Formats: sequence, structure tokens, C-alpha cells
Amino acid sequence: MLELLERAAGAGGGESTRAASPSAFGLVPEQLAERGCPGSVNNAFQRLQRPWTWTHVEPPLHQAAARWLVEHTDLRLPEVERDVGASDGTTRVVYRSGGDAFEAVHMPRDVRAPRVTMCLSSQVGCGMGCRFCATASMGLVRNLSAGEIVGQVLATMDRIGPKTSNQLSLVFMGMGEPLHNVTEVVHAISTLCHPLGLGLSPRRITVSTSGVVKGIDELARAPRRPRLALSLNATTNPTRTAIMPVNRKWDLAELRAALGRWPFEARERITVEYVMLAGINDADDDVDRLVAWLDGLPHMLNLIPFNPHHAAPGMRASSPERVSEFAAALHAAGCRVTVRVNRGRDVAAACGQLVVGAGSGR
Ligand code: SAH
Ligand code: SF4
Repeated sequence: MLELLERAAGAGGGESTRAASPSAFGLVPEQLAERGCPGSVNNAFQRLQRPWTWTHVEPPLHQAAARWLVEHTDLRLPEVERDVGASDGTTRVVYRSGGDAFEAVHMPRDVRAPRVTMCLSSQVGCGMGCRFCATASMGLVRNLSAGEIVGQVLATMDRIGPKTSNQLSLVFMGMGEPLHNVTEVVHAISTLCHPLGLGLSPRRITVSTSGVVKGIDELARAPRRPRLALSLNATTNPTRTAIMPVNRKWDLAELRAALGRWPFEARERITVEYVMLAGINDADDDVDRLVAWLDGLPHMLNLIPFNPHHAAPGMRASSPERVSEFAAALHAAGCRVTVRVNRGRDVAAACGQLVVGAGSGR
């Protein structure tokens, strides 16, 4: 992309791209105009946001606009440090941007029409400290910018696919707590949904939170409101606080009230994620409390088999039989419930396994 624009601008070399400039991929047409981009800002935005236009020069990009982009924005996409393919078709892509590494996971789904779900990171590391999660062991390094979040999507499409955006769904279930970085996440979503860019429907984007109530309320007001997923993972306050420290700030009752305020569209459901931990949250009483907590909430309960890792010693996965019994009991009580198929386990791309850097052993 950078080379293409430099050619269009008649400039040479990458030196004119200024590291301190904002990422070109996080600017919507209005922002390009405000900052002084000459020519058609719609055309410039379109060329930046559509990877399938990067390899050819038609439609032509206004030369002055190309020069302006080279001089006033950072045109570098997050760099692929490595990508690792799993036996089930999942690819874990490690990106580097601004000196930090973060990950995206590309998951093709081979149903009748080929579709891809991309699992995105919103932060480098995570500061929420959930006991069962490998990313927590990194701590929070920093927030990703909207340009880096959008860049993850565009770079992954360019490298692995899909070729066009009508086959793409996005989930913010990689590294980080998206609602601790809600401004950049909301701006990234608006950019990804812009009709002159990928034009994604916000219904195909899911933001998963550990329960940051302030952020849930803010997301509810987003101009392009995505689907919401909540990582519940426990049915009593003492257990939830023990495994998810965020529960100290917003407890189960406050969380349930926040979901009650969510402005549901017709047929919309909130995904409630529940990692199954043997002896911690998989008792018969948990079923009863879960049913009570979900009462009146349009939901899809997603039971997630726990992926053990070095940062959670002593935590064990509920047996597959226990997961099935648990699901059956919830179903019998009227809940909508599915069991998540864990993908990419052999390349550590599965839920809660994303960790980069010192001590990860990978
Ligand atoms: N921070 C956000 C999104 C990323 S985590 C959140 O917590 O919702 C995505 C999902 O992976 C969450 O539902 C989380 O509960 C789950 N998860 C974390 N560690 C896991 C592990 N070791 N095994 C299985 N699922 C895990
Ligand atoms: Fe952060 Fe989510 Fe992991 Fe908790 S489960 S530490 S919020 S990434």
C-alpha cells in the first residue's frame, strides 16, 4: 500500500512516512478533510480501506492526496511477525506495531458459502487480571489505536483473506479488554462499517467484555452499535471476584442491570460466555443460579471448554461429560445454550491462550 501511494505521489522511499503521524487507516473521510487532505477524501479513504484495490492503480488516486497521505500520516500496516497455521485451518497471526506484538486469529468456516471469522485484539496484553486467562499474565502494555485495530483486519485480509468483506465477521475476543479502550474500539468499528470502506454490518461485529459496566453503557450509545458478548464465568460474587477481579467494581447484580439497559434490536441476543472450570463454577447449583440470572434476558449462553496453560496452575477443565450435562440441564430449564468448539489449540490460538513476549515460552 505504501509503495503504491508513493508511486502515485511521485515520491520515493519510505522515509517521508512519519512515525509520530496518525495511522492513515484510522481516519474516516471527515477526519482526512479536517486535517487538510486535498482532492477527494472519499476516494482516498476508499483506496486505503479496501485491500483488494491495493495491487492495482485503478481507480487512480489523486496525486496530491497521495502525497499528502505520505507526508502527513503513517501508512504502515501492523507488520506480520509470524503466522502459524493450525491443523483445523485456523491461523494465528502475530503482528508488530510501534515496537509491540499482538495477535489476531483467522478462522475460516467451511459452510456452504465460505465465511471467515477474525478474532481481534484491542490492547497489547490486558490489565483485568482474570485468573484463568493467559493474556492476563502479560499485564496491560498499552491500548491499540483505532488505526492499529483496523490495520489488523486489513493486513489479515490482504495476507490470508477473505478477498472481500461480505464474507467477514469480527469478534473482539483476542488480547485485551475492549471496553477499557472503548473510544478507539468504537472509532475502529465506525471505520470498518463505513460504506466506502469494508462496509461491514455492525451486526457482524461482536465486542466481548469481562464486565466493564461503564463501557457497556458507552457502547450502547455507539453510532454503529455492535453485538455484545459478556464473559460471565461464575454465578456467585465470591467466586466471580476470585477469578475475575473486575467483579469487585461491578458485581453480578450491576452487570445484569447493565444488560437490561442494552437497546436490543429485534431478534438480537447477548452472548454470555462461560468458561467451564472443574470444581469452581460447574456445580448443579451453578445451573440454578445461571438460569435465575439469565431470566428475562435475550441470550445465547456459550459454554467454553477451559484451555489449560502455564499461567493458571491448578485450574482444570470440566470433563466433556460434565460440560454436556451442564448444557443439557440449562437447556431443560429453558436457556439457549451452545458449547464452543475450541479452534487453533495446537498453535495456542484458542480462547485465553493468546500471549506474546517474555515468559510465554513460545
Ligand atoms: N477481554 C474480553 C475478550 C477477550 S477474552 C473478555 O474477557 O471478554 C475472550 C474469551 O475467552 C472470554 O470469554 C474469556 O472468558 C475466555 N477465556 C479466557 N481464558 C480462557 C481459557 N484459558 N480457556 C478458555 N476460555 C478462556
Ligand atoms: Fe483480559 Fe479477557 Fe483475559 Fe480477562 S479474560 S484477562 S478481560 S483478555
